[in-house]
Parts: sequence; structure tokens; C-alpha cells
Amino acid sequence: MTLGLTHMAYILAALLFIMALAGLSKQETAKLGCLSGMAGMTIALLAAFSKVESGAGFGLIIFAMVVGGAIGIYVARKVAMTQMPEMIACLHSFVGLAAVLVGYNSFLELGAVAPEAIAIPLNLTNEEIARAVETAKAAAAASDTTTMSLSELNTHLAEIFLGIFIGAVTFTGSIVAYGKLNGTYKLRIFKSAPLVLPGGNWLNLGALLASAVLMVWFMAADAPSATALTLMTIIALLFGIHLVAAIGGADMPVVISMLNSYSGWAAAASGFMLDNDLLIVTGALVGSSGAILSYIMCKAMNRSFISVIAGGFGNAPTTQKEEEMGEYRELKAPDVADLLKNSSSVIIAPGYGMAVAQAQNAVAALTEKLQARGINVRFAIHPVAGRLPGHMNVLLAEAKVPYDIVLEMDEINDDFEDTDTVLVIGANDTVNPAAAEDPTSPIAGMPVLEVWKAHNVVVFKRSMNPGYAGVQNPLFFKDNSAMCFGDAKKTVEEIVAALGE
Ligand code: NDP
Repeated sequence: MTLGLTHMAYILAALLFIMALAGLSKQETAKLGCLSGMAGMTIALLAAFSKVESGAGFGLIIFAMVVGGAIGIYVARKVAMTQMPEMIACLHSFVGLAAVLVGYNSFLELGAVAPEAIAIPLNLTNEEIARAVETAKAAAAASDTTTMSLSELNTHLAEIFLGIFIGAVTFTGSIVAYGKLNGTYKLRIFKSAPLVLPGGNWLNLGALLASAVLMVWFMAADAPSATALTLMTIIALLFGIHLVAAIGGADMPVVISMLNSYSGWAAAASGFMLDNDLLIVTGALVGSSGAILSYIMCKAMNRSFISVIAGGFGNAPTTQKEEEMGEYRELKAPDVADLLKNSSSVIIAPGYGMAVAQAQNAVAALTEKLQARGINVRFAIHPVAGRLPGHMNVLLAEAKVPYDIVLEMDEINDDFEDTDTVLVIGANDTVNPAAAEDPTSPIAGMPVLEVWKAHNVVVFKRSMNPGYAGVQNPLFFKDNSAMCFGDAKKTVEEIVAALGE
């Protein structure tokens, strides 16, 4: 493929990637969005293949693709929907690691660069400079080295340094995020509670300043300093760990989108190092869309982006223990069915537990049963319910719950006080009144579904364990609340059966 054709293919692929993003923004066009992304990636791969010059290089790429593709297909088929966030965190860490490796490779290749061959006097005209560069390039080509002007070399050094820095932060930050998202509340590799080190923010600032000083050393030394690069890499790896470990559980949605954004910038940095325009464009698309998503998440959770990154929220210890909160009431499935029979309006607030239990079809069946009795049923969706943006919408759409009864938090929050019964199915943090009522709570200020304002609330879960943020929930102990223990799918199916009798 000629260079012109490769560039055209890259432009086409970039357009398809933009169409993919546009398509994925709506449920109805999501499939088309996926197809556009796949077509773009196929074109991009073919164009990249055409640049490979040696047969051995081609063989290596095919080998890596077959091994990587096989692992990818195996993992993607095996992973449950509820494990998607940790899988995404894991994939982000690969992008970060790739950027670090590309950076070190570019650094090692610098040995074959001969900048002094084209040191150009300052008093030349532009034409003379261009001629001097061409002559130096021809001389270098003859001697099997690559040439760069000094400014090109400096730019390349900055790309290498920044690419490795962003890549290393993304790599370890994503591994910690994986650990915080993995497993259940008690078995999680890293606790979701924030790591609070004395002077944590100063440590972050110190790491940034030290990296800036090392960058000056790296670029100003006679030959690019491997010591400066290695020291910066170690600092960036530790910085990534601390940055994410210091963020509280409830703020994890922002961390995921933030790491998504970092991985995009790491890919863009690799694109600069490899001189690959498509990688730069794709990285920038991922980087900026991740940044926009982080902003949306922060807004939904009433957080300031800077404070989340600095780990400033979620730092307070858990305020009250279960035993200090009082007594809770318990209802069995047939009691809940009776309560529902006597209600004229019901709101269902689903959460992560509905996804774990795969209860969406049972919930859809319950909805139909209640509607058949003339009861007004609606769903209240919190923006960070579950473990993925839009997690609940996807599950409810899969179970064919009509879109028009699925309402966002802002659309339905004022309606709870006029509602007879609210069913909280596997949600916890997103319905925690402490966010609104307890200024010392780690989730204080986060907007939540105000389910406790309804006449009756029934909470479906398996135990009194706290939600993802590790904060106990005073909702369970309110006079108008009752717990219905058990796996959500099984319990809802029992209620459907009881309603049918
Ligand atoms: P939570 O994670 O706060 O709580 C889920 C509840 O479901 C738990 O209390 C658990 O209790 C219960 N549960 C688990 N399995 C079952 C089951 N099989 N049957 C019945 N209940 C079950 O859920 P929310 O959706 O309210 O909140 C989401 C949390 O995740 C927020 O803190 C959010 O910040 C965070 N987060 C969200 C992301 C996003 O993008 N949406 C990404 C990352 C984090 P028990 O064990 O007792 O059954």
C-alpha cells in the first residue's frame, strides 16, 4: 500500500471510530456503533500490516495476534456482565504497559539517531536549512543511522518521557482499580475504602514535581539520561498506585472513566512515538471521551473532579456500626406480595444486586403482574447504579421492560413521597439516606434516590452487609422500611408466584 493509500485508510478508520462513538450514545443505534468500530479497526489493522517491511516482523505480529486474540475471546466469553468494570480496568492496564514498552523501545532506538550530523547554524535561511537537513539525512541513510533535527529530537524525547509517565500511571492505577472492583465486599483484593497516608496530597504533588525535574535532566543532559527515565518510571508507577488507592469506593465510577481517559492519552503518546497518525487520533478520541464521561459522573455524584483525583472525598471513616443503628423489620415474599396487592403505585429501584442475581427477567415478570392489576409501576435509575454507566438500563432493556417506565433519578426523585411502595432490588449506596442526612458520611453530598420518602420500602438483599462504598445504610432501620432477605431472583420469583394465586 502506498503512503497516500495508508493515510486514506487511516482517515476512513478514524471516521468510523467517530461514528462508533456517536452510535454507542443511544440504545437504538448501539449495534450500528459496534459495527462501525469493528469495520474501522479492520481497516486500521490492514493499513498497519501494509507498513510491515520484513517477513519476520509480519510473522511476529500474526503470532501475537493469534495468542492475544485467543486469550481475549476466551476471557470475553467467560466474563460475567457484573465483572465488566474489572475487565475494563485490566484492559486499561495493558494500554498503559504498552505505552511504557513503546517508550522504552523508542528510547533504545535513540542509539541509532545522529542529531549532531545535522546541527544547523542559526544564520541560515529556511531554504538553506531544508537543504542542510536533506544532505544530513542522505548522509545518515548511507551510514545506516536515522537523523533528526535538534528540535525534532527534543520533541521526540518529550514524547518518550511523557508517554512512559502516562503509561506507568495508567498501568499501576488500573491494577489497583481492578483489585478494588474485583470480588465481593468481603473478598475484594483491595478494600474499597480509601488509603489515607499522612500528607497524601503532598506526596502526589511531590511525585509530579520530581518527575518534572527528571524530565529537565532527561532532556538537557548531553545524551538522554537512562537514570532519569528509570527514576521517573519508578515514581510514576508508585504515583499510579497511590492516586487510585486514595480514592474512596463510592467515587470508583469516576476513577474508571478517568483511567479510560488516561489510557487514551497513553495510546496517543504511543502514536506520537511511533509516528502513527491513527493511533494519535484514536488515543485522543478515547482520552477526550473518557474525560467527558468523568465530568458527567462527577456531576451526577456532586463531586469536584479535582477533589476526586486528589482522593479528597470518601475519606471519613464509616460513621455508625449496624448495632448502633437500631432494629430492622423483616418481611417474607408472601408478605411483600400482600403489600403490593394493596398498593396503587410502585417504584422499583434496581442496583448491583439485581445484576448479580440476574433477576431482571423476574423483575420484568413482576412488573407485568402488577400492571395487570392496574398498579402504576415505574423504575428509578441512579446514574451510578450497578458497576457500569447504563448498567441497569441495559439489563432492563434485555428483559424487555418498556423504556417509557424507566426513569432517571432527576425525573423521578420528587415522586417518592406520593408512592405507596418502593422495591429496592439489590441497590444500597444509591438509596442511602446518609448521603443526604449525615454530613460526616463518606458519601455525604452524593445525590441518591430518596426512596425513604415513600409510604413503604422493601429492601431485597442477602444480608446486612454494606454496599460497594462500605458505608452502613440507615434506610434499613427506618420505621417504614423492611428487609426481604435472599437472592433477589429467587425472592422476586416467589412474589410473582404469590401474586398469581
Ligand atoms: P451497591 O454495590 O451499593 O450494593 C449492592 C447490594 O446488592 C449489596 O448491598 C448486596 O447486599 C446486594 N446483593 C448482591 N448480590 C445480591 C443478590 N444475589 N441478591 C440480592 N441482593 C444482592 O449497589 P448500588 O447499585 O446501589 O451502588 C453502586 C455502587 O457501585 C456505588 O457505590 C457506585 O459508586 C459504585 N460503582 C459504580 C460504577 C458505575 O459505573 N455504575 C462503577 C464502579 C463503582 P448483600 O451482599 O447483603 O446481598
